[in-house]
Amino acid sequence: MSHKKAFELTPKEENFSQWFDETLFKAEILDERYPVKGMYVWLPYGYEVMERIMDIMEELMRKTGHRRVYFPGVVPESVLGREFRFIKGFEGSVYWITMLGRGQAPERLALRPTSEAIMYEVLSRWIKSYSDLPLRIYQIVPVYRFETKATRPMIRVREIAFFKEGHTFHATYEEAVEQVNLGVRIYREFYDRLLIPYLVVKTTSWDTFPGARYNYDLFTIMPDGKCLELGSVINFGDLFARTYNLKYMDRDGTEKNVNTTSFGVSERSLAAVIAIHGDDRGLRLPPEIAPIQVVVVPIPIKGSVGEVMSAAERASSLLSEAGFRVELDDSDDRPGYKFYKWELKGVPLRIEVGPKEARGGYVTAVRRDDGSREEVPNEKLTARVGELLEEIASGLRTQALEYFESRVASASSIQEIEELVRDKIVSFPWCGRESCGHRVEDRVGYSIIGYEENELAGSGASCVVCGGDAPHRAWIGRKY
Ligand SMILES: [Zn+2]
Repeated sequence: MSHKKAFELTPKEENFSQWFDETLFKAEILDERYPVKGMYVWLPYGYEVMERIMDIMEELMRKTGHRRVYFPGVVPESVLGREFRFIKGFEGSVYWITMLGRGQAPERLALRPTSEAIMYEVLSRWIKSYSDLPLRIYQIVPVYRFETKATRPMIRVREIAFFKEGHTFHATYEEAVEQVNLGVRIYREFYDRLLIPYLVVKTTSWDTFPGARYNYDLFTIMPDGKCLELGSVINFGDLFARTYNLKYMDRDGTEKNVNTTSFGVSERSLAAVIAIHGDDRGLRLPPEIAPIQVVVVPIPIKGSVGEVMSAAERASSLLSEAGFRVELDDSDDRPGYKFYKWELKGVPLRIEVGPKEARGGYVTAVRRDDGSREEVPNEKLTARVGELLEEIASGLRTQALEYFESRVASASSIQEIEELVRDKIVSFPWCGRESCGHRVEDRVGYSIIGYEENELAGSGASCVVCGGDAPHRAWIGRKY
């Protein structure tokens, strides 16, 4: 069975990391064999999935008043350098252009490591008065970071190929706070649509993005039990305004600093989709982002080729006319080969048409999420397929949530955290004091992922360290 081997994967539970790499390659998402470490080639199928993910993001950005822009991918050191004053160690992860053609560059240029500096330099010329605010823009561009830790496709890369970064500018700090809450709502809806469970936390003061007032991070839990950061929403207050001279003339005739925020997601969103929904047979794509939602597989036997093929063609064109993304696999491959292939690619629904189906006026539908089969009469085909795709989405969501819940636990003492943290992400009551937070981190050996602010207020919970009133629910555990 050579075809079986071509589609075979290491079981996900046995070795998640190997399963992930094999799936990316065999399902034709990425080719890792690019001669620059930490950078990957996106294959047509992977690109199509990613495009659909970014389409959801763009829809959410546009409907909340953000407009797309493009800023160049290189930034002079003199501009970026101002940012270094408060982002320590950042310089070491920048790709520098030192040559221009055959000559030495008069000034080093950085390949876009992040866009704050690039944008703020220009925006200080756009923003003059209160009437120019608020301003909400975003771009989807690659960013470059010289990661020194072990690189992993989509998860820890040196070229983030799909970085969606939003940048917003506001007259007051309160408006920036509102914007951050909006950013969190956008990311919630985004990951809800990808059927990915997540945790939204505020990061501790000692782990906050350098220079930011505060930030929220979204995390999910990967199949190896480690947390993966999926997105970040940052309130800079007027920090960048002071660095990049971003000022506006207010109504009262005085000059004030602009308040700014930024928020970003990347192809880690697809990494989460693949890792969390995938199984030992390969991808299981949510119908909304699947390039092919339904694959029609004719199963002719001798003497029935004509009627089977025309029944399969009819089913395929009916579904296609109804707006589903359909593929009719009428290649010469054997049906078993086709099953493996489309399962590996995560197509949510397979429609089988054999001689019995062709004569009986029905098709057999097989769900990718749970493998269940049902006979669907031809006259109900389009309506039932619509329902099935919704059921598949909800099946994937339920399974993902069950996994997520099996990986979290709550503790009420440090000792309990130490026991549970071995294979879970653990929550505990925290008073909010830095000294208590550090104490837990030192004892447990991991950093606090973040905390849900005032989530336990009024509950009578007491801090696992000092025993004092604990309004916050903090989270700790292994992370990428
Ligand atoms: Zn405490």
